[in-house]
Amino acid sequence: MTTAGLIIIGSGPAGISAVESYRRHGGAGPVLVCSADPDLPYERPPLSKDFLRGDTDDVALHPPEWFVEHDVDLRHGRPATAVDVDAHTVTVDGQPIPYESLVLACGAAPSGLPVPGGERALSLRSLADAHRLREAASGATSAVVVGAGFIGCEAAASLAMRGLAVTLVAPDAVPQEKRLGAEAGRRLRDLVTSTGVRYVGNAKVTSITDAGVVLDDGVTVDCDVVLAATGVTPHAELASAAGLDVEDGRIVVGADMRTSAADVYAAGDVSFAFNTAVGRHIAVEHWQDAMDHGEIAGAQAAGARDTWHAVPGFWSTIGEATVKYHAWGDGFDASRVVDHDDGFTVWYETDGVAVGVLTCNADDDYDLGEGLIASRRPAPPRRRRTN
Ligand SMILES: Cc1cc2nc3c(=O)[nH]c(=O)nc-3n(C[C@H](O)[C@H](O)[C@H](O)COP(=O)(O)OP(=O)(O)OC[C@H]3O[C@@H](n4cnc5c(N)ncnc54)[C@H](O)[C@@H]3O)c2cc1C
Repeated sequence: MTTAGLIIIGSGPAGISAVESYRRHGGAGPVLVCSADPDLPYERPPLSKDFLRGDTDDVALHPPEWFVEHDVDLRHGRPATAVDVDAHTVTVDGQPIPYESLVLACGAAPSGLPVPGGERALSLRSLADAHRLREAASGATSAVVVGAGFIGCEAAASLAMRGLAVTLVAPDAVPQEKRLGAEAGRRLRDLVTSTGVRYVGNAKVTSITDAGVVLDDGVTVDCDVVLAATGVTPHAELASAAGLDVEDGRIVVGADMRTSAADVYAAGDVSFAFNTAVGRHIAVEHWQDAMDHGEIAGAQAAGARDTWHAVPGFWSTIGEATVKYHAWGDGFDASRVVDHDDGFTVWYETDGVAVGVLTCNADDDYDLGEGLIASRRPAPPRRRRTN
């Protein structure tokens, strides 16, 4: 049985960035990446945007030769089924494989729609999911998207831009009211509805039947396609079974991505990582943060030292509009909206200190916000003209 220097479970951005970082930091041991996903590593962000609209098929993270050139044994469609942190092994295809270092980058799975008929709804996480959704949309005239998080808003807008009559259903009066506040939610609603989507707020789905999507006010929305964009559940089950510290369904790691077991790291959506700038553990579900986590885990596995201090952030494209968000992501006690000629900025504060910024066509505020949040300074006091 050959020992892999580094085993990585998962081929998303956290896993692949860990490989890149390990090699860049001089890690010379054998690298094995095992992934439950049958496809070669790809980018998820386009799946609800350009890919769903049919504007691109090219979502590969790296060409296949890249893995050969970097001496990576990539086993896709081969899930890890157990981790033994005492024996230092990962089980793949029923065989325990020894590791020197292990990175758990297993990401998350769609939570689904727990109502009668909920299994009729499509989900959108993997490339295979995206192919299924795009195929269903190509023969459809109408769709219901359940859930108005960023992926729900993006997918609804993309489906509308394909010419479908789309209804976006969510429990908040406006999208993400609880997370981002009513004013920001109104602006997000306007971005989505400007693509032709009909937004139905204050609504819960009670079932999906042959007649369509049934809401809690008794209305049934007839449609050809239903997409559940109702959040994700991290894949922490391997870690729990291995006895690692897990909190709120995520693997607890330090700022160096170390778990509670020696030589085992966790990165990306599955982790609950300590951020040195904010001084606490936070959960993030963003592409760039997963890359940053993987970068740190790979560096550590190669013997270098690195810690997580970046302010989490992401970009979301809803129709033609790009919205950018930096935030610690665990709430605020005050928010203020600043309108610009062709966009807006929302500043979020807690105890008079900036904890988030949401922008649309206001890149300088996005950059400014990152610095203010990182250095725990207040949001700008007065309206600023941007762009
Ligand atoms: C449609 C869509 C659009 C998005 N758009 C944006 C965006 O615009 N901006 C943004 O910041 N974020 C976006 N995100 C979120 C972003 O993609 C995730 O935060 C990111 O992919 C998390 O990376 P990860 O590596 O932690 O996990 P994942 O990307 O989920 O990768 C996890 C990997 O682990 C594998 N795996 C799971 N269990 C096992 C096992 N037992 N054995 C082996 N392999 C396993 C999975 O198959 C997968 O390959 C989007 C997500 C989706 C689905």
